[in-house]
Amino acid sequence: MDKQTIVIVGGGITGLTAAYYMQKALKEEALPYEVKLVEASDRLGGKIITHKQDGFTIERGPDSMIARKKPGMKLVEELGLKDEVIRNGTGQSYILVQGKLHKMPKGAFMGVPMQIGPFLKTGLVSPFGKLRALLDLVKGKGDASVDQSLGAFMRRRFGNELVENEIEPLLSGIYSGDIDEMSLMATFPHFYQLEQNYGSLIKGLKQTMPKPVKTKEKGNPPGAFFSFKNGLETMVHKLVEKLDEGTILLNNAVDHIEKKDNGYHVLLSSGDVIKAVAVIATTPHKTLPKMFSQYDFLQGFSNVPSSSVANVALAFEQSAIKQDIDGTGFVVSRNSDFRITACTWTHKKWPSSTPKGKALIRCYVGRPSDQEVVDLPDEDLVELVLKDLNKTMNITAMPEFSVISRWRNVMPQYTVGHMERIAKARKEASEHLPGVYFVGSSFNGVGIPDCIEQAEKAVEQVRKYLSI
Ligand code: FAD
Repeated sequence: MDKQTIVIVGGGITGLTAAYYMQKALKEEALPYEVKLVEASDRLGGKIITHKQDGFTIERGPDSMIARKKPGMKLVEELGLKDEVIRNGTGQSYILVQGKLHKMPKGAFMGVPMQIGPFLKTGLVSPFGKLRALLDLVKGKGDASVDQSLGAFMRRRFGNELVENEIEPLLSGIYSGDIDEMSLMATFPHFYQLEQNYGSLIKGLKQTMPKPVKTKEKGNPPGAFFSFKNGLETMVHKLVEKLDEGTILLNNAVDHIEKKDNGYHVLLSSGDVIKAVAVIATTPHKTLPKMFSQYDFLQGFSNVPSSSVANVALAFEQSAIKQDIDGTGFVVSRNSDFRITACTWTHKKWPSSTPKGKALIRCYVGRPSDQEVVDLPDEDLVELVLKDLNKTMNITAMPEFSVISRWRNVMPQYTVGHMERIAKARKEASEHLPGVYFVGSSFNGVGIPDCIEQAEKAVEQVRKYLSI
């Protein structure tokens, strides 16, 4: 009997993970289905791109995964990659506020203080700003709401100063978005739950955050993030290696998907058609209106914004950095006269990325209010990054080389109402497109572990739908 086909659209981490878990289940249980993964470009991994040059390992996209979220490490163990894992070097990190570097206060989670002592000592916020922030302890819970902006929620609890000087630079960076437009429930629903349960985020975090584990070993505890000795793409290569030959179709965009013959006809840019019994679409939300052009309920995705960023990696002789800073990097508040939004001293955060005697500095540009910076020519980008860096460090030589990665309109914006919009589209899809699932960074989390988790769930949904 011919095997029926489950199509996975997109070969980023979400698509590859879905293909891996789906194929594994089919093989283990000898089920009469096959997996086809269709990828538009000539490579796999999507936003995960590790670039090697002159002994440096440079991440053009994401540089690591957060270890706290379990699906990431679970997949690493599944793939037998544990020995390849490296943890980030821990060290002081900083926030640049109104042009001045401040140490990130200890005992804070995403900029929200959990320990009052270190918070009272920080120079990041004025005495008045501190008093205002501590009102969180007595404010009580806000009204129950379906959603609200992350900025409005944080401002109500802590006041504008803590938000602008500490919370915004940390939280906006993760989503490359504007904190005042971002949905609380789609980005940090946990904060809402803490407010509702404890009437205070400070109290709620104090009660619920795991206490740091004390070890007998000297030195800093392991970092909160991980990558691999040979860069993040290691995981992509391993996933590809695990998939059966013939599973992946490269250089083939899915142009259109039509409901036909008790399943779906998946029309490829080559003109070929794959007949599928189920489809997991892992591509960005903006691809869906065209793929399913006959369905009105998916057309709204063309209006969901995506922002742009660029990162600029600069390789130096260590000696070129005359005034170094003891730490791993800094984020920049938007009240500073800087165009870079964040800077990582990669040679310290990921020592194996950089040959001995060299330094690797990686900066981001592209605030929501400064999107045009992403399109500047390479030389101008390098010049403006160096100018900003020299305000806090003293770099006396030009970089040996630079690697610039532009990410245009790819950072999905989870604006207020995001979860409701997704739920509505999925409900309609379950009626009109049974067996079709939308997952990936446009939907339930942008972090790599979130994408992996979504892929796992989609595989479970397909199995339930096909009763296998
Ligand atoms: P993608 O990686 O976008 O993959 C989608 C794939 O679909 C692509 O390969 C694309 O070519 C393909 N495709 C598109 N249209 C079609 C079509 N019509 N037919 C077939 N294929 C199609 N996350 C972290 O956890 N840690 C970080 O440090 C981090 N830093 C980041 C830094 C940057 C610069 C960026 C851009 C993202 C970062 N992220 C980070 C987020 C994370 O990298 C992404 O959310 C995640 O990799 C997205 O994976 P995905 O598979 O959902 O989508």
